Amino acid sequence: MARPRPCSLFLRHAAQVLTLAGGAGPRRGAELGELGVIPRGGLLTEGERIHRVGASRSLEREALRLRAEPIDCRGCVVMPGFVDSHTHLIFAASRVNDYELRLRGKSYEAIAKAGGGIQSSAARVRQAAPSRLRQLVCGFLEQLAAHGTTTVEVKSGYGLEIAQELKLLRVIRKLQRESPLELVPTLLAVHALPASYNGRATQYVEDVIRRLIPAVAKEKLAEFIDVFCDRGAFSVDDCRRVLAAGRELGLIPRIHAEQLARTGAARLGIECGAASADHLDKVSAADVRALAGSDVVATLLPGANFHLGLKRYPPARQLIDAGAAVALATDFNPGTSPTLNMQFILSLACTQMGMTPAEAITAATINGACALRRASTIGSLEPGKQADLIVLDVPDYREIPYYFAVNHCAATIKRGRIIHSRA
Ligand SMILES: [Zn+2]
Repeated sequence: MARPRPCSLFLRHAAQVLTLAGGAGPRRGAELGELGVIPRGGLLTEGERIHRVGASRSLEREALRLRAEPIDCRGCVVMPGFVDSHTHLIFAASRVNDYELRLRGKSYEAIAKAGGGIQSSAARVRQAAPSRLRQLVCGFLEQLAAHGTTTVEVKSGYGLEIAQELKLLRVIRKLQRESPLELVPTLLAVHALPASYNGRATQYVEDVIRRLIPAVAKEKLAEFIDVFCDRGAFSVDDCRRVLAAGRELGLIPRIHAEQLARTGAARLGIECGAASADHLDKVSAADVRALAGSDVVATLLPGANFHLGLKRYPPARQLIDAGAAVALATDFNPGTSPTLNMQFILSLACTQMGMTPAEAITAATINGACALRRASTIGSLEPGKQADLIVLDVPDYREIPYYFAVNHCAATIKRGRIIHSRA
């Protein structure tokens, strides 16, 4: 993929520019509703960075001086690109058979027994050449850009075995260099017990700590370390040891917490200084208070609830009202959330979890950036920050979730360069 040097762009006459301007910390409580809207707004980029943001007319002279390329944004919203802070983007095949079996009433356990579930994804990864995995991820990255995502976290995890996990992370590293999008690699160190370790869970955790984590750290293949801490997955004690081992080697913890049952995983996230605790469907009132009093970003993933046909969604309202730093992400994965579209996640956040459109946008941009420890460079439109922004063909930001399951993204700009344009 060729990368011509970005010059200067002048996004002018936007119906609304959403700056999300503010401090580098996550937005909490009422701050989640503050988008920093500039009507008839404009934005100037210079190279990879944002140069100025303001009323469109006030930027005309500076645009001339810079010989900026004008982009007419009449009738459109200009806002920061989406930061999708939780995905399992690298896998070898969909699980559409599991999907149909579930629709026919089969339980998760029955599907796993019939050869489905995470183990089936692991089997497909084992058979897949790195070039094939790369090709699949490239397709997903193009779709992400087309839907307005400019930064995406990518977890390993479908490798399960050490050599396979390293294979996945090396493909991600290659794509970090090749893709115009920003990929943030996470080692999902314990996801499910590989079949070869049946009945030897302790041995597996030991091998992850002694062999996998040091190998990943040595090759600098990941920035974060994640664990699936839940009923039927890994215990709080095992996850504590895994996260501590990762942290010792420079990997920042994050955690899948309280999705299927309340296990104390969110508390573990707080205890070990995790960047985020994700899912949180089953948190207690005390957990909500503890999260609100911590720096852990509470990342909600309503795409999984939607795809699984669940009636209950994570308690976004309680978390926001208590003062937790709430983020939204797709949880893109073949088993429970096969969507790449952050705009649809906003619709779910609003209609199913009672968030306002403004809260959902904040959660999907600056708070997602906080969850990835990148709030000083991305997530808002402020001079000096990376020019990561999108143009959506609606005149009012509230129409983004309102017209649901539609792609409003007309253009995506990453580091000052147009990487997707509908025209
Ligand atoms: Zn996940």
